[in-house]
Amino acid sequence: MPERLDAFMARANAAYYATHDPFADFTTAPEISQMFGELIGAWAAVTWASMGAPAPLILVEAGPGRGTLMRDMLRATARVAPDFRAACHVHFIETSPRLRAVQAAAVPDAVWHECLDHLPAGPAILLANEFLDALPIRQFVRRHGGWMERFVAAGCFVEQPAVVAWQAPQGSIIELGEAAAAWVGGVAARLAAQGGAALILDYGTAEGSPGDSLQALRSGAPADPIAAPGTADLTAHVDFAAARRHAEAAGAAVWGPVRQGAFLTRLGLRHRAAALARANPGRAAEFADAAERLSAPSRMGALFKVLALSQPGLPMPPGFAA
Ligand code: SAH
Repeated sequence: MPERLDAFMARANAAYYATHDPFADFTTAPEISQMFGELIGAWAAVTWASMGAPAPLILVEAGPGRGTLMRDMLRATARVAPDFRAACHVHFIETSPRLRAVQAAAVPDAVWHECLDHLPAGPAILLANEFLDALPIRQFVRRHGGWMERFVAAGCFVEQPAVVAWQAPQGSIIELGEAAAAWVGGVAARLAAQGGAALILDYGTAEGSPGDSLQALRSGAPADPIAAPGTADLTAHVDFAAARRHAEAAGAAVWGPVRQGAFLTRLGLRHRAAALARANPGRAAEFADAAERLSAPSRMGALFKVLALSQPGLPMPPGFAA
C-alpha cells in the first residue's frame, strides 16, 4: 500500500527522534551559543510584562531538543528579571522519551506533554525553535494530465491523482505543511482565548509554498529522504505565509515573519557578544563568531525567520519593526 508522504514523514521522524541523538546530525541556534537563549529570555520577560505580569505564567517550549534554550533563558532571567523567572511554570511538548531524559537533566522542574491540548489553562508564553520544520508535509506535482500527489511505496516515490486545482506550470512542486499550519492555528486560538504570546523560529519562506524543500540528514550528511526510514532527520521549510493566515483566522495578533538576523540584532546580539567578550577576554573570538553564525545573511540570519503571535491588544513585541 503506498503511504502518503506526510504519513511516511511522521512515522520516519518519530522513529528517528526516538532512537537517535539528532544533535550528532545537525546543530541549532541554542546549541551554537548561550546568547540565543539569553536574548529570547529577555524577549519573554518583556512580553510577560506587557501582558500585565501574570503569575503563574505557563512557559511552554515545543520540541526542546536538549533543553538548552530553556536552560539558558531561565538562568539569564533569574538574574535580570527575577519576578519573571519566579512566575514561570515550565512545560515541554516532546514526544521522544530519549530526548525527554536529556531535557530533564537540563531543566529538572519541567512538566512534559504529548501535545498542545494537554497543557494546563491560563496565560502562556510559547516558544518553538526548529520544531515546525520536523512536522509532516504533503507534496503535489503538476504533470501533463493534472496534479498528482506523492506517496512512498517500497522505498520509492510514486504518484497518485490529486483533487486540487492550482494554476502552475508542468513539473511544478507544491508543498503543503498542514500539520505546521494546524499547530500554529491551535496556538493562536489558545492565545486569543486565554492570553499570552508565542515566538516561532525556523527556516522557511515568507512568501508561500517553498516548492520541494524536503531534506534528510543522515550522520550529518544530506541523504535520500525515503531510504531507511527512522535513520535520518527529515525536515521541510516552513511556509510562514500559511502560518500567518492560520494564526489570524484563529483570532491572534501576528507580527513578522522577520529575518532571524534582524530580530536578534534588535534584541541586542552585538552588545551581548561584546559584554561576554569583555567578561571572558580569552573567548572573545568565539562570541564574535557565534553572533556572526546566528545573524549573518549568508549563515542563519536570512534563511531563518521569526514569527510572533499574541492575544489581541498587546503592543508590538521586541525584535519586530512597524
Ligand atoms: N528546539 C531544539 C530542537 C529542535 S529538533 C533546538 O533548537 O535545539 C526538533 C525537536 O522537536 C526534538 O526535540 C523532537 O523530538 C521534537 N519533535 C519532533 N516532532 C515532534 C512532535 N510531533 N511532537 C512533539 N515534539 C516533536
